[in-house]
Amino acid sequence: MNEIANLIDGKEVPPASGKWLDKLRPADGALLCRVARSGAEDIARAVAAARRAQPAWADRTAVERGDLVRALALLLRDRREDASEIVAAETGKPLELALGETDAAVEMGLFIAGEGRRSYGRTTTASMKHRTVLTIRQPLGVAALVMSFNTPLPNVAWKAFPAVFCGNTAVVKPSEHTPASASFFAQLALEAGIPPGVVNVVHGLGTEAGAALVEHADVDLVSFTGSAETGRRINESAGARLAKVCLELGGKNALVVCDDADLENATRWALASAFSNAGQRCAAASRVVVFDAVYEDFRERLVSDARDLAPEPVISEDALERILGAVANAVSQGATLLAGGERPEGPGFQLAPTILEGAAPGDEISRTELFGPVTILYRVRDLDEAIAHVNDSPYGLTAAIHTASVHRALRFADKVQAGVVVVNGGTHGSEPHMGFGGVKNSGTGWREAGIEALDVYSDWKVVNLISDPALT
Ligand code: NAD
Repeated sequence: MNEIANLIDGKEVPPASGKWLDKLRPADGALLCRVARSGAEDIARAVAAARRAQPAWADRTAVERGDLVRALALLLRDRREDASEIVAAETGKPLELALGETDAAVEMGLFIAGEGRRSYGRTTTASMKHRTVLTIRQPLGVAALVMSFNTPLPNVAWKAFPAVFCGNTAVVKPSEHTPASASFFAQLALEAGIPPGVVNVVHGLGTEAGAALVEHADVDLVSFTGSAETGRRINESAGARLAKVCLELGGKNALVVCDDADLENATRWALASAFSNAGQRCAAASRVVVFDAVYEDFRERLVSDARDLAPEPVISEDALERILGAVANAVSQGATLLAGGERPEGPGFQLAPTILEGAAPGDEISRTELFGPVTILYRVRDLDEAIAHVNDSPYGLTAAIHTASVHRALRFADKVQAGVVVVNGGTHGSEPHMGFGGVKNSGTGWREAGIEALDVYSDWKVVNLISDPALT
C-alpha cells in the first residue's frame, strides 16, 4: 500500500502531474500511503475510457450485468478481512466496525444483482386500439461517482453496484482520505470479470480531481455523497450543462426522548447514534431533544455512559481542529460542556465523546453539521415543541423518537421533516432494500439503495407498440 495510482481502463496509471498526496493513518498520524494527485488530464482519460466501454457494457443483458455484480459481491465477501483491514487502517475505525461495513457493501451488491432477474417496468393502457404501452429502463452513459470518507466501502458500493448494473460505466472519485478501499473495490471488479473501463477510479483532491470530473462535458450523471456545501457547488456546475445530479448530503439529526420513554433504551441508542464511527455519519444524532420531566435523569445517564467510552480518531488533523474550534466557540457563546471537548494525550486524531447543553436552536453549533463525536442536549416541554425544535434545522435526513405512545410515534413520523424516521431506536437503520435520503439541505430528493437507486442510474423510456396499424 505504498502508492495508490489511478485505475483507468483496467490499468494502474500514475497521475499526469507526477504529484502524490500523503495519506496519514488517523489512529496514530503515521504515513499510510501516497495517493495520486490527479487533475483534469487524468479525469479526461478516465471519462474517455468509460465512454469507450459503455456501449458494449450496456449491450449485455440485465441478467449478465446482474451476474457480474453478484460475482463482485461474492468476491468482496471472500476478501472481507483484507477489505476491512484496509478500511480500518485508512479510517482509524475498529476492525469489527469495518467488517460490518464490508458485509453491508456485499449485501448491497447481492440485492442489486437480484435486479438482473427483476428490474420491473410497467405496462399500461392506451386510448388507441391495438396499442400496447410499456416502460423500460435505459442507462444514462458515463456516471461520475463522488463520495465521502466515512464508510468508504459502502459509499462506493451504494453507487457503483446500481450504476453499472443499469448499464452505465463509472468514474469513481473517492475521498482523498480513503483512497485504498475504493481502489481495492475496483480491482476486485476486474477480477470478478467486469470489463476494463466499466469501473475507473481517479484519486485526488475535491477541488482538483473532483471538480474536473463533475465539470467534464462528457459525464451524463453526477452522483455525489458529501457535504451540503460541496453539493451546492456541484449542483451549480453540473446543473449548468443540464447533467442529471443526485445529491446525498449532510444531516443535523435529532433523537427525541419523551417523558414516557424507556430511558435505558433511549440512552443506549443516543450514545450509539451520536458517537459510533466517531460521529462521522450523515445520520449521526447530533441533537438530543429531551422532555423537561426526564431531562435531568436522562442527562445523567447519557453523560455518565459517554465518559466510559474510549476516544476514537476522526479522519484528519484538520477535521479534529475544526470540531474542537466549533465546540470552543459554542462554549464561548454560553453553551456548557458536559463531557469530552478535548484532545486526549497521545498520537493520532482522537477526540472523546463530547456532550454540550445550553446552546440555543439558532446558535451556529445547533445548525451546523460537525461530522464528529459531538452532540447537544436540548430541553422541551412536550411533543409539539419537540417536533418544532427538530424541524427548526436546515437539514432533514433522519430523526428518531423514544416513546411508549403509538400516537406520539405516528404523529412524529408524520410531522417531522426527514427522509428516515425511527421509533425507539437510533437515527439510522438503513438496509440495502430501503431507499435512503433526506429533505431540505440533506439532498435533492433522490434515494440511494433500494430499488429507488435504479431511478438515479437509469432513465425511463415509454415504448408504444401498435400491433396492427390498419385496425387503429
Ligand atoms: P466533502 O463534501 O468535503 O467531500 C465529499 C467528496 O467530494 C470527496 O470525495 C471530496 O474530495 C469531493 N469534493 C470536494 N470538493 C469538491 C468539488 N468542488 N467538486 C467535486 N468534488 C468535490 O464531504 P466529506 O467531508 O468527505 O464528508 C462528510 C459529508 O458527507 C457530511 O456532510 C456527511 O453528512 C455527508 N454524507 C452524507 C451521506 C448521505 O448518504 N446523505 C453519507 C455519508 C456522508
